[in-house]
Amino acid sequence: EASYTLVQDGKLTVVAELGFAPFEYIDGDGNTVGFDVDMANEVASRLGLTCEFLPSQQFDTIVPMIKQGGKADVAVTAMTITDERLESVDFSDPYLASNQALITLASSDATEESLNADGMRITCQAGNTGEAWIRENLPNATVVPLADVTAGLMGVQTGRYNAMVVDLPVATNMLSQSFSDLKVAEEIPTGEQYGIAVSKDNPGLTKAISQALADMQSDGTMAQIETKWFGS
Ligand code: GLN
Repeated sequence: EASYTLVQDGKLTVVAELGFAPFEYIDGDGNTVGFDVDMANEVASRLGLTCEFLPSQQFDTIVPMIKQGGKADVAVTAMTITDERLESVDFSDPYLASNQALITLASSDATEESLNADGMRITCQAGNTGEAWIRENLPNATVVPLADVTAGLMGVQTGRYNAMVVDLPVATNMLSQSFSDLKVAEEIPTGEQYGIAVSKDNPGLTKAISQALADMQSDGTMAQIETKWFGS
């Protein structure tokens, strides 16, 4: 275990895909902000570390980055704890529950049933749980995974795609910010849990992070961060 060299110089390197408001995104001043950013900074500070955010252009390359080690210590990127990912990385205890959203044009009357048909094009962020949901539940439609959530929403706006599936809190946030001609047509109760992904080589770090999260739950810090980003 002494050969494990991450968490160097007191820096916790955190990889995230920064197009996922309100969890992690770049604000108008160019700062990396969001629920996960505040939470990761607080966890790091309780471990005596400073976070350094490492942006990833894609979501689906993040698990491999953590798995191989050497590139980042952890992923904090609204990542759902799944059995498949647990084969490659460890996760902290869950820190937030989430669901998926089916997004269409506000003027559309499409439903889960009508979208599960030949010729329907459904977009999602590549490699995320929304993609897995579409493949399982809309098997007759064509799935079009993209790197960028905003590109998917713009494609629904222009009619290139009939719908998009993405995490519900992100849908709610991004639609209210800049996509008023889109709507959440259906909430999909997937009952996901977000966790912090850590290399399997670093069980001590996973344990320390889970302890910090538990402390933040019990002392009210997590509730403060939730109120800041989601309202009360
Ligand atoms: N929660 C989803 C997943 O884990 C989406 C995460 C993301 O795109 N940042 O797949």
